[in-house]
Amino acid sequence: MRQTLAIIKPDAVGNGRTGRIIAHLESAGFALRAARMVTMTRAQAQSFYDVHRERPFYDALVAFMTSGPCIPMALEAPDAVRRLRQVIGATDPAEADPGTVRALYAESKERNAIHGSDSDGNARREIGFFFPECDRLG
Ligand code: UDP
Ligand code: MG
Repeated sequence: MRQTLAIIKPDAVGNGRTGRIIAHLESAGFALRAARMVTMTRAQAQSFYDVHRERPFYDALVAFMTSGPCIPMALEAPDAVRRLRQVIGATDPAEADPGTVRALYAESKERNAIHGSDSDGNARREIGFFFPECDRLG
């Protein structure tokens, strides 16, 4: 899989980190293939995070992700899914490796600056969710 989905989350957009995060991703070898800015509706965020529906943090996550604009991006690189997960770091910035996007820019485990798809199957689904017109997956 050469493509994956990243989302610059509302905390990072609101704090003016967008440019730095995109520069970080490009410096790490990703090419930007699609991008948009969107304030998700509650229904969109619930659907996007449906895999977490039963988790205790689900409602708070939906509230956070609809709290302001976010920036979904389709990114391309060799081994894109695994590589993006390395570059963004652990979910909790306190556990993220130094130099990762979350270590640099996340406020907390909840407001953690960036999303990255966690598998090829989810990358396909998530790119299609925001960019249904994209036909260059794979
Ligand atoms: N999250 C949270 N509390 C938790 C775990 C996760 O608020 O205890 C949020 C956080 O924003 C995270 C998202 O839910 O990025 C999705 O969780 P996941 O376990 O998939 O982490 P990720 O794949 O984003 O590292
Ligand atoms: Mg995840």
